[in-house]
Amino acid sequence: MFNVNPIFAEPEANENLSNVGDDDILRQRFSQFQEQKLVEKFCRETHLLKIVEGTVASFIEDYRRIRTPEKLLTPLLLRLDFIYADLLTHAPSLLPLIVEEPLQFGLAVKYSVYGLVRDQLKVAGLKPIDIGQLHAQWRVVGLPYSPNLLFDPAANSLRLGLSLVQGILSAYTPTETLVLQSTWYCGSGCMRNALQTSATDAPLCPNCSRPMSEYQKLRVTETYRLLAILPSSCVQTPRSVDRIHRPTIVRLRAYAYTCDLKLGAKYLITGHFSGSTNYSFEACHLKSA
Ligand SMILES: [Zn+2]
Repeated sequence: MFNVNPIFAEPEANENLSNVGDDDILRQRFSQFQEQKLVEKFCRETHLLKIVEGTVASFIEDYRRIRTPEKLLTPLLLRLDFIYADLLTHAPSLLPLIVEEPLQFGLAVKYSVYGLVRDQLKVAGLKPIDIGQLHAQWRVVGLPYSPNLLFDPAANSLRLGLSLVQGILSAYTPTETLVLQSTWYCGSGCMRNALQTSATDAPLCPNCSRPMSEYQKLRVTETYRLLAILPSSCVQTPRSVDRIHRPTIVRLRAYAYTCDLKLGAKYLITGHFSGSTNYSFEACHLKSA
């Protein structure tokens, strides 16, 4: 939980490197800043800027129409497709980051998009929103099949970067609900708000310590399924004996796919390892293979 409207610290571009003692921390911060700049440049050169601008424009329009303070707490949901061919053309230097450090790339996307959102709100004369209101759902689309990128528990190869799972859909769970954001206010007149980005338990007011009440209409959810993906080899040699084929359990959120899920069909899934106890792979894109 965090309070709404904190001051958002951003690394400065012209920071003097020699003035800071801890070189490692600084180098890391500096490179994170460069990553964010690369993502921002990519957004500006592709269709992604239009998506961000359109979403912020409707946020502003909604606020101007209704003008209630809670309208400024509504979430901004953005689905951003990073097309592999566009990355090759506009930002080849981003590819190593995406492939080796997908979670860090996800953060760079969130922070750079937040910068774009904040700029547009400023132009409209509005205060910045909380970064927790921004849900930048990124997908890497069109990553070509490559054996080096395979995530293959059967071969004891669990890649940690962006990876591919290719195989047969052998089972999936019914859809389950994931809470992306719940928004809270203090009913005791404290004028305090809070956001939660995963839990739905009432937080305690930071001022009077009473449980807060939820703006039910502002809750944003998404569905997901868990998929069991068997390696294609177990279907190609169905008569092999003395062998257990263990599926990879993949979590597939609704934003990550648009095609139908058919049992027995073959899919290529882009995503990354997840340390969850329920599943081992988090998908960020699924397509028929
Ligand atoms: Zn209170």
